Amino acid sequence: MSNQRDPRYDILFEPVKIGPVTAPNRFYQVPHCNGMGRMFPDSMIEMRGMKAEGGWGIVTTEQCDFHPTGDVQPFTETSMWDDGDLPYLAAMVDAVHEHGSLAGIELVHNGQDSGCLYSREVPIGPEHRPVTWHQHPIQARAMSLDDIRDYRRWHRKAVLRARQAGFDMVVVYAGHNGTVPSHFLSRQSNQRSDEYGGSLENRLRLYRELIEETRDAIGDTMAVVARFAVDEMMGKDGLEWAGEGKEAIEMLAELPDMWDVNVSDWENDSMTSRFAQEGYQEEYISFVKSATSKPVSAVGRYTSPDTMVSAIRRGVVDIIGAARPSIADPFLPNKIKQGRPEDIRECIGCNICAAWNNLSAPSRCTQNPTMGEEWRKRWHPEKIAPKESDSTILIVGAGPAGLEAALGLGKRGYQVTLTETRNEAGGRVTRESRLPKLNEWARVRDYRLGQIQRMPNVEIYLESEMNAEQIQEFGADQVALATGALWRNDGVGRSIRFPVPGCKALTPDDIMDGKRPATAGSAVTIYDDDHYYMASVIAELLASEGYRVTLATQGMCVANWTEYTLEQRHIENRLLNAGIQILARHQLTEVGEGWLQLTNTLTGEVSNHEGSVVSVTARLPRDELFEVLKGKIPVRRIGDCFGPSIIAAAVYEGHRYAREFDTDIDPDAVPFNRTRHKLQH
Ligand code: ADP
Ligand code: SF4
Repeated sequence: MSNQRDPRYDILFEPVKIGPVTAPNRFYQVPHCNGMGRMFPDSMIEMRGMKAEGGWGIVTTEQCDFHPTGDVQPFTETSMWDDGDLPYLAAMVDAVHEHGSLAGIELVHNGQDSGCLYSREVPIGPEHRPVTWHQHPIQARAMSLDDIRDYRRWHRKAVLRARQAGFDMVVVYAGHNGTVPSHFLSRQSNQRSDEYGGSLENRLRLYRELIEETRDAIGDTMAVVARFAVDEMMGKDGLEWAGEGKEAIEMLAELPDMWDVNVSDWENDSMTSRFAQEGYQEEYISFVKSATSKPVSAVGRYTSPDTMVSAIRRGVVDIIGAARPSIADPFLPNKIKQGRPEDIRECIGCNICAAWNNLSAPSRCTQNPTMGEEWRKRWHPEKIAPKESDSTILIVGAGPAGLEAALGLGKRGYQVTLTETRNEAGGRVTRESRLPKLNEWARVRDYRLGQIQRMPNVEIYLESEMNAEQIQEFGADQVALATGALWRNDGVGRSIRFPVPGCKALTPDDIMDGKRPATAGSAVTIYDDDHYYMASVIAELLASEGYRVTLATQGMCVANWTEYTLEQRHIENRLLNAGIQILARHQLTEVGEGWLQLTNTLTGEVSNHEGSVVSVTARLPRDELFEVLKGKIPVRRIGDCFGPSIIAAAVYEGHRYAREFDTDIDPDAVPFNRTRHKLQH
């Protein structure tokens, strides 16, 4: 470790003047949802403070709703409906200021998107429209000119409250197709005939007024940031960066103190690595700097300091915006600053963070197991307690769980031996990263391996399959089995509870091991009862190899669950473009030699199909070693070997094992702190 920063990166640490305030560097944690917000404020505050501690020069809130007519229940964002909401927001400001960073707040009213389920107010928007999110049977009503005046007053009051809470910057938000000013701007949702509809100038009027009135309310006490989507990614039917997107920026060019630009909607802005690479928004936003003299920021899942420096040097941005990279590594700026960029835990672009938020639970992260646990469990992303004993530990299996456990225990100073059957580490992430477009997932392995390889107290043995006898003979004080799980081949899963007659399908493990349906180019049906990414990537793979692929699923659409990771639309589009046939609401009911039977789950209609089957249904833990060893030696299962789940869970369980090692855990106690809301009666 050099601790000498490469002078090439110095530019990232130059202060940037943003109106009346100065950011200490060019790292800006843009507003990002996290499923904590007002429901779990203690967790939210600590998480934001951690970003500041890690060197992000600007740290903002997630969206902060400022009026009950914009209530987004069940999403747990921050809210500032009246003064009663100030204390927890002020506490967040303090947590950020403690480390010398600027605190920003993003004021949001989701208008026609919000169902107002909690407030029971009637939602509002540019015109009469059914509410978009969740397809509630509720309509937003068209705002009159009086309503618009009310709306502007609410926004202004929120700005003043933000100042009272101590924020340094206020973000005026017209992005993601999800706020009242962006609804007014979009021709899709604004066909008004008054001065707020029609021409671009008219559709932009409300946003201009909000920026001007924000400035008027706060004078030069806070910076005004315009967060703006320059392209709706719907071609001529929407705002395009080369057309009205550009004109809009030019019309407002010098009004805000800073531009934070992106594309909408959220599915396009926060694309997973399967669909977009680092810096993918540059082609849409790079014109902005030539249209304004104000500092410009954009996101693009930047994790490499070289790419960041390049974006600045090429004149694309002045400030590096980041949501996911700051979640995966809250200490990313400090690691670059201290001359150790190799220690960065790079985001893999999986959107598990977004999924948990979309499920109204505190966000978690595949790469950073401490995300959301900063306050709840007092887990610091960079610090872990030193060892409490001289125990030696044998970890069997070098997948994400085994690697993370070895890393945590190694950091604590324990003597760790990690053994792995295969000739490479990484377990499922190594194997899955070779499936189409999942290559960035290998970062889960690379980060951990890179760290472990520098630890003299952690030894890794590849091509070293351990049986029960060898484990016992090894004589470690503690053994952790991180041996993973295997996909079933009998069709049993979420929907099918008994083996499907005749089913001995190929599984994802077989496919990743290089096995293929017998005849090249033949018909293959992938039966998906998993509903996440696996069936769709295997479909892509086999289609690219020339097989005639059908994806049959019990679900109402392909890869149902990826709605939460913002991928479903992109996945379905890609599969259809690859010529893959999709059969929703179909169950596998029988398999024979070269044929299979599917049953429509609504009509009961049975159909026979030629070809072979790949089943993606459920996994079983590889816990045979545990069954032999339990009671004989101190042994535990971690990761998929204990409970098959997502990669984030395997990393988390490995981390937890390392944290809790040598600690007495009361199995009856809640294993984390909880926010207690004070009753009002
Ligand atoms: P997890 O997600 O829980 O980390 P993975 O399936 O990714 O699980 O990794 C488990 C790893 O354990 C695989 O790389 C597998 O090769 C390895 N493994 C399984 N059984 C043994 C064993 N008996 N000895 C050594 N390694 C094993
Ligand atoms: Fe990145 Fe995935 Fe972590 Fe989100 S969950 S920050 S996408 S690694």
